[in-house]
Amino acid sequence: MPDSRSVELFARAQQVIPGGVNSPVRAFASVGGTPRFIASARGAYLVDVDGNELVDLVCSWGPMLLGHAHPEVIEAVTRTAAGGTSYGAPTEAEVELAAAIVDRTPVEQVRLVNSGTEATMSVLRLARGITGRDLVVKFAGCYHGHADALLAEAGSGVATLALPGTPGVTAGTTADTLVLPYNDRDAVTAAFAEHGDRIACIITEAAAGNMGVVAPATVAGVSFNEFLRRACHDHGALYVSDEVMTGFRVSASGQFGRDGVTPDLMTFGKVMGGGFPAAAFGGRAELMQHLAPVGGVYQAGTLSGNPVATSAGLTTLRLATAEVYDHLDRVSARLQDEVRTAFTAAGVPHVIGSAGNLFSVFLTDLAEVHDYADARTTDTTAYAAFFHAMLDAGIHLPPSAYEAWFLSSAHDDAVLDRVVAALPGAARAAAAATTGATS
Ligand SMILES: *Cc1c(COP(=O)(O)O)cnc(C)c1O
Repeated sequence: MPDSRSVELFARAQQVIPGGVNSPVRAFASVGGTPRFIASARGAYLVDVDGNELVDLVCSWGPMLLGHAHPEVIEAVTRTAAGGTSYGAPTEAEVELAAAIVDRTPVEQVRLVNSGTEATMSVLRLARGITGRDLVVKFAGCYHGHADALLAEAGSGVATLALPGTPGVTAGTTADTLVLPYNDRDAVTAAFAEHGDRIACIITEAAAGNMGVVAPATVAGVSFNEFLRRACHDHGALYVSDEVMTGFRVSASGQFGRDGVTPDLMTFGKVMGGGFPAAAFGGRAELMQHLAPVGGVYQAGTLSGNPVATSAGLTTLRLATAEVYDHLDRVSARLQDEVRTAFTAAGVPHVIGSAGNLFSVFLTDLAEVHDYADARTTDTTAYAAFFHAMLDAGIHLPPSAYEAWFLSSAHDDAVLDRVVAALPGAARAAAAATTGATS
């Protein structure tokens, strides 16, 4: 379908912005075609610059828990902005947002920042500052934002020191990062055996959502997260749970609310900003007290705790009631069922990865997906065909086979009916494009 204004804008955008976008996945590079430029959004719908109405299953990659332009959020940010947009001095609302996070999660104190990247970057500095150790462990396929130390790729063997995952990150930086396969307990045990007294922390997504959704596996009644917590504590390291995606989304208290594993330190973002740049890192008071101005670990931010972002986040958390999470769980379960039915009917092998209401679809012959190597068997060509068939039918999916699908309180059954109506045709398009190759 020709989308003239989007095509025109994308051409202009590419002249003044690298790749035409301000965050790479928006460029449609992995599915082909032209990204839709969005003019406005309300509830579960986006309107592009050509006037097409699209059901939004991206929800700004997670933040829009209540849907777009929720009247009470808009009212709060409008009222706040009228009173000034940034003071560089503390406000009451910041205290309330921090308290709202403390109320819902196991952290006792939080520091507010502007993005998930900033939260994870700062939490690593804090973990290293507290322990006096250099190494951090992360898992392949887990994304923690674009801080240098976390843009590392696994080396050839298990527990080898990592290689830079992108030009511009120095080998020196990633030499202090160990990258292990997700859900691999033996690799964690081996890393501690080899480097135990040098590991400051393990950072993990509370449930992996950035390689598609891969839940932490439970073995003999012990979840992967609980295994990590114990392994860290046995070796004097800190267990850091990144809930930037899952926090305030998969339950009122995120993945913690689902598995009950208490981290030493946590990071939050996305939903807690209500569609504005706000994020946080937190933990036990005794650990957070290492931060300046109380302790010696420096961290700061001109716009941190920004009043407008804070009001959006606070209003969003206030409106995220138990009914909202019940609704999300129900519509997500329905959509997961419908997706499974459509792909099964079309004869497309698939696995639905889920952590509560967060889910994604792997077009793979595997029976289960446990880690990044498994996730990478997904047939991206088939996904691209599926994606474009859905888009032609007015459904805006994540433009990558490795991303979670996001719902909101505005995604009711009538909205889902439109998605469900588009699924069989799109699944057949995927079947026609299936390469059969699971590289
Ligand atoms: C999105 C995300 C980040 C990065 O957050 P930004 O606000 O994009 O910097 C970090 N960790 C996880 C788990 C995320 O999903």
